[in-house]
Amino acid sequence: MTLLFATHNPNKVKEIQNMLPDDIQVKSLTDIGFHEEIIEDGDTIEANAAIKATKVAELFNLPCFADDTGLEVETLDGEPGVKSARYAGEFKSDEANKKKLLSKLSDKPDRSARFKTVIVFKDADKEYSFTGICEGEITLKESGEGGFGYDPIFKPKGYSQTFAEMPASEKNKISHRSLAFQKLIAFLKT
Ligand code: IMP
Repeated sequence: MTLLFATHNPNKVKEIQNMLPDDIQVKSLTDIGFHEEIIEDGDTIEANAAIKATKVAELFNLPCFADDTGLEVETLDGEPGVKSARYAGEFKSDEANKKKLLSKLSDKPDRSARFKTVIVFKDADKEYSFTGICEGEITLKESGEGGFGYDPIFKPKGYSQTFAEMPASEKNKISHRSLAFQKLIAFLKT
């Protein structure tokens, strides 16, 4: 079986391919030569995953899935949420996003936060969605060199290191994305 993953990110493709049996092959948009940008203008993480999966499934007539992730901070009513990539502006800067979040939390005692990934899988006219959540907190300052995005300021619950301080293999065991992937895989195996 070949599944299309509506992403250009080779790391995400590798992560899920490593979790799948050999008879399920995952191809990215880059693999199939699709370079157009899909406008993610949904109001929620769920909506954006559905927009990407639907568009690609319609264009290529293949089973397709898409993921979307957001960081939800409790005391900021779920901000940055669906705006996580562009929190500090359209230019999509991880550095500016982290700085803005740390500054908004500077006088807040509650720093609880969660990463949420939603995967939407489209097969013909059927649509299924799978959610992975990783609870944790926003640290007072950045720590660690690994990972990407908000990793240096996110410490998962029950751990003393930020995502950026952990080896990728350890992050991948507990991350929001990996939990959502595991649910998709359990579904694909049935
Ligand atoms: P995407 O939906 O995977 O593109 O994620 C949207 C934004 O959320 C990214 O630009 C990152 O800023 C952030 N993000 C997603 N996943 C992670 C993660 O595992 N660690 C840190 N930041 C993440």
